[in-house]
Amino acid sequence: MKKAIILTLLCLFLAIVILPALVVLRGQRQEVKVDTSGSPLINVLNVKTKEIEVLPLEEYIVGVVAAEMPVDFETEALKAQAVAARTYTIKRYEAAKKNPNKDHPDAHICTNHAHCQAYVSKDEMSKNWGMLKYPGYYNKIARAVNATAGVVLVYQGKLIDPVYHSTSVGKTENSGDVWQFDIPYLKSVDSPGDEESPKFKTQHTLTLAQIDKALGTTLSAVPASTINNPKGSPIQVVERTATGRIKTIKVGDKEFKGEEIRAKLGLNSTHFSWKAQEDKLIFLVTGYGHGVGMSQYGANYFAKEGKDYKDILSHYYTGTELRKYSANKK
Ligand SMILES: [Zn+2]
Repeated sequence: MKKAIILTLLCLFLAIVILPALVVLRGQRQEVKVDTSGSPLINVLNVKTKEIEVLPLEEYIVGVVAAEMPVDFETEALKAQAVAARTYTIKRYEAAKKNPNKDHPDAHICTNHAHCQAYVSKDEMSKNWGMLKYPGYYNKIARAVNATAGVVLVYQGKLIDPVYHSTSVGKTENSGDVWQFDIPYLKSVDSPGDEESPKFKTQHTLTLAQIDKALGTTLSAVPASTINNPKGSPIQVVERTATGRIKTIKVGDKEFKGEEIRAKLGLNSTHFSWKAQEDKLIFLVTGYGHGVGMSQYGANYFAKEGKDYKDILSHYYTGTELRKYSANKK
């Protein structure tokens, strides 16, 4: 009698708790199908394998979002990133169809983030996130891509250059203050929430000898007290941008543009101060990246505040509009 009761309870437990849980789990593990209807095929040069992969646009975008933004970001931020990545890809794709890219004539785009944009395959996603987290994370990105399938950003009817960076300094930067040209949709805007980024404030220490080697200067010969003296220091800011980033700086008798010195010294951004300590310079850096266009941490903050991807994109890319891309129409 007792056995029968236990058996009945066990069956009930299985039916009520375990089976539905298994069904739910299975549902979560089932891979969301990426909507590739209307996707042009993109020839992607994988710089690691040196092979060209032919991928439907939307499938490729999943791999770009996975590589370019932390997957634990809000869905609306991931959607904004998907639209930016798609816009960039289509721009490259259309350009390469007219004039093949001189660095990779057989591919529309490559996976080198410094040349085109980063991309990870499903295998790499699984490796990066771990097998247990992979299905949920993959599906999260695939849903964000599907929700914006085909959507691109245009300014006065033309595809934009949707540049973005990790973390701003509370404000993004005017394109003309970082690069040569003022682009009307890449204007300085407020970027609240940047301080939530782990890269908002960083410290970077270099020896004076390392700096001299990188810049071709002779700071090693100067005592730290002289470097720290604002008036007599061989390091002088010539011009700052309105957001406090360094536009031009003089080290010894050499002048450098902000982005130039950032690259040479490997600093996270051009918003920095410094202090000499014995034979070293300690840089205190704010933000991460060039500061132009969308701040990813800012986008995530806006998403947490309840903004959708359209709000986020129109905030960071002034005067732009969203449009559905069609491979046959320009
Ligand atoms: Zn490339």
